[in-house]
Amino acid sequence: MSLEDRPDREAFDTICAHLAEDRLAYQGAVIPPIFQNSLFTYPDCKTRMEQWGAPGVYDYTRYSNPTTEIVEKKIAALEGGDRARCFGSGMAAISGAILSCVKTGDHIVCVDTVYGPTRVFLTEYLPKFQIETTFVPGGAPQEWSDASRANTRLFMMESPSSIVMRQQDLEAVAAIARERGIVTICDNSWASPYFQNPLKYGVDIVVHSATKYLAGHSDIVAGVAIGAEPRMHRMVEREGCLLGAVLDPFASWLLLRGLRTLSIRMERHDRTARAIAVRLSEHPAVERVFQPGRPDDPERHLTDRQLRGTSGLFSVLLRDSSRERIFRFVDALKYFGIGCSWGGFESLAIPITVPARHAGRPGDEPVWLVRLHIGLEDVEDLWADLEAALK
Ligand SMILES: *Cc1c(COP(=O)(O)O)cnc(C)c1O
Repeated sequence: MSLEDRPDREAFDTICAHLAEDRLAYQGAVIPPIFQNSLFTYPDCKTRMEQWGAPGVYDYTRYSNPTTEIVEKKIAALEGGDRARCFGSGMAAISGAILSCVKTGDHIVCVDTVYGPTRVFLTEYLPKFQIETTFVPGGAPQEWSDASRANTRLFMMESPSSIVMRQQDLEAVAAIARERGIVTICDNSWASPYFQNPLKYGVDIVVHSATKYLAGHSDIVAGVAIGAEPRMHRMVEREGCLLGAVLDPFASWLLLRGLRTLSIRMERHDRTARAIAVRLSEHPAVERVFQPGRPDDPERHLTDRQLRGTSGLFSVLLRDSSRERIFRFVDALKYFGIGCSWGGFESLAIPITVPARHAGRPGDEPVWLVRLHIGLEDVEDLWADLEAALK
């Protein structure tokens, strides 16, 4: 796992800075304008008839918008896909991508540690279409084939997951899926395209909560799905345009602003988070740190193969993991805001419960963890804050 493993490293940053930008089309403006309009007009009726739907011709912002399209082209290139579609939130991208794969009576296999609302969508929303989901720990490829049935249409992955950071073997699971005509989706929000590209391993659709690292400033809610044509074309026409959860052009413009610094932000999150995780793991109050790449990482082989970095989000299990102790620790932090979400410039901490099996503990009692997002602040200031709060 190293940044030097990235063969197209320069291309990544150049894509962020230049791809799909046409300054001369906007009076040389270094930042493209926000096309904050719902519709586009035509010089005459015949032109509208002839040009409707052609590339570079815009009609209505629910279908396409020039500001949003710049972002979509960049993110598609960063993930190595043909096409990306922005959505109004990560959940809109996830539910849209899932709905694009299944029909009434189908079956889904999903990783057990998937993001909570994705799980609720699968267990509480899709059953109204008689769509059933089986959850698997997901670390061993065999679990995916064992759980599949004749009507399985989708393998839903999230690697690493965003609380206990469990990973799936993307290449092996995608190969099993392809053999059986099953589609694969991977939520790649934790790694961002800078640290992992699931499409490269044969995954069909990548989804992101762009609210997190892609936007990176904690000021928008956004989502994106990326994949190959013609699958993406169908998703844009149906789940994109018919369900209609589009990204607002202003939010697209802020997302574009975030992309310009994605790589340098990710490198800093990664460096500071790794330094802090090492110190925490050596602290007597800490039982375990859940972070890919640590010596007790249960999926070290996948970390080495799939990830180029460890991102800024990890969880900590304290030796005294009582609710009272966890709350006292989190309340004592000065620089860490107490809040959900992550991926922005700021450090965050949140007490969180997981099923005992997710934390590698026996029994059925939920286990309290603290999930930390390590922001872009000074590493020594953050460490001093954590150390003081642990006392
Ligand atoms: C936040 C998050 C989502 C949902 O994204 P929203 O933008 O909040 O809708 C999905 N997956 C993961 C891993 C997340 O952390």
